[in-house]
Amino acid sequence: MKKTILLLYLMTLAPITAQNEKFQGQPPIEIVPTTSKPVQKQWKGSFTYDSANITFSNNFEGARLNGIIKNNDSTYTALITSENTPINTSPWYAFKIWAKEKRTINVILTYQASAKHRYYPKLSFDGLRWSPLDSIQYTEFEKGDKNFGPGSLPVKISMKLEVGRDTLWIAGQELHTSSHVGRWMDSLSQKPFVSRKSMGKSREGRLLDLLTIGNPKSKNMLMVISRQHPPEVTGYLAMKSFIETMASDAKLARRFRKKFTTYVVPLMNPDGVDNGHWRHNAGGVDLNRDWANFNHPETRAVKKFMEEKVVRTNGKFYFGIDFHSTWDDIYYTVDPKLKGNMPDLVPTWLDAIKEEVDGYDPNVRPSDRMHPTTVSRNYFFVEHGAEALVFEIGDNTPREFLREKGRISANVLMELMLERLK
Ligand SMILES: [Zn+2]
Repeated sequence: MKKTILLLYLMTLAPITAQNEKFQGQPPIEIVPTTSKPVQKQWKGSFTYDSANITFSNNFEGARLNGIIKNNDSTYTALITSENTPINTSPWYAFKIWAKEKRTINVILTYQASAKHRYYPKLSFDGLRWSPLDSIQYTEFEKGDKNFGPGSLPVKISMKLEVGRDTLWIAGQELHTSSHVGRWMDSLSQKPFVSRKSMGKSREGRLLDLLTIGNPKSKNMLMVISRQHPPEVTGYLAMKSFIETMASDAKLARRFRKKFTTYVVPLMNPDGVDNGHWRHNAGGVDLNRDWANFNHPETRAVKKFMEEKVVRTNGKFYFGIDFHSTWDDIYYTVDPKLKGNMPDLVPTWLDAIKEEVDGYDPNVRPSDRMHPTTVSRNYFFVEHGAEALVFEIGDNTPREFLREKGRISANVLMELMLERLK
C-alpha cells in the first residue's frame, strides 16, 4: 500500500522536486472589508456560428464562458472573465461545444488583464467522467519564467479539440456543482446514521446543506466545511473521501460514531459554484474573509448552527477542518503553543499522516495570529476551542492520491481522537 501511495505522490512532485522547491504557502491573510460588492452576472446561452455549423454554450450550472470570437472556421478565441475585481488568480472556465459534422478546431483561452491561465483543461462527454486534455493538443503562450506557482503561468493557451454531434464539455477541473454535490449527499444519507438537512439559504436562495454523521445529540463534535472557493475541486474531492471513510462500515468508523458526531457543509458557496465564479459568493466577496464580520448568509448559517449545537448538547467541537485547493498540498494550522479542546491533536495527526505515506512531506504552516478571526480556521479555534486547520490540496494532485490521502487522514484522525477522549 505504502509503495503505491509513494509512487502516486512522486508523480505529482516530479516537476517540483527537480528544482528543489516546495510551495511555501500564501502570505499572511489580508483583512479586507466583507460588505457586499456588485457582481457582474454572466450572459447565458449559446453562441452559434452557422457558417461552421458549430455551437458553444455556457447554458448550464457551473459554466463560465463570457464570450467567443471566431478567428476563422477552425480557430476560436474564448474570453473568460471574473465575477468582479480585485480577485485571486483562480480563473475558472467551463463550457460545451458541439458541431454538425465531426472536425478538429483550435480554441484559445484568454483572460482579463492580470489573470493568467491556471487550470489544465479537462474534457468530458457526459459532464460526469473527465480526463485531462492530451498534452500534444495543448499549447501555452507567454509562459511566466518561474518553475512553479503564479509566476509560472502562461497568459493564454490553445487547445486542439475534436468536436462533433456528441457534446464536448471543457472545464478547468471536474464539474461538481450543487446538483452533483446534492446527489452525493443523497446517496450518503441512505445510511441510517447519516442525515441531510438544510441549515439556511445562500444569498441567491440556494439551500445550504448539512450532513450529520452520527448521533445529533452527541456532545463530542467535529465541523467539516469545503468549497468556500468555487474552483477548488481537489479540496472538495479529498473532503469527500475523508467523509466517506468516516461514514463507512469499518470497525473504526463505527466505534468513532459512537463517541463523536461529524457535521459537514460540503458546499459553502453554492451560488459561486453554480454561477461559475472564480472565488467570491453572490455578494461579491471572499467568504473566507468573513468569519469575523459575518456579513453573509453562508458564514452566518455555520456560526448559528455551531453556537446552537453547543448550547443544545452542552458539548463542544473538538476539531474543525476547511478543505481548499492551491498550488500544492499544504496545511495551514494553529500554532501548537495555543491550546484548544484537544491540545496537540493536529500536529500529532499530521505527523501520523506523513508516517503513513512514505516519503510524503507536505508543508505545514502554523499561525498564531488568531485575531480578528477572519478565516474559518480562526473562528473554529477561537470561538469553539476546536483544533482547526485549513487542509489544502494541490490543483494537480492525482485524483487517486488525493482519495487515498482523504481516507488515510480520516482513519488516523478517528484513531487519535478516540484515544484522546478516554
Ligand atoms: Zn481556497
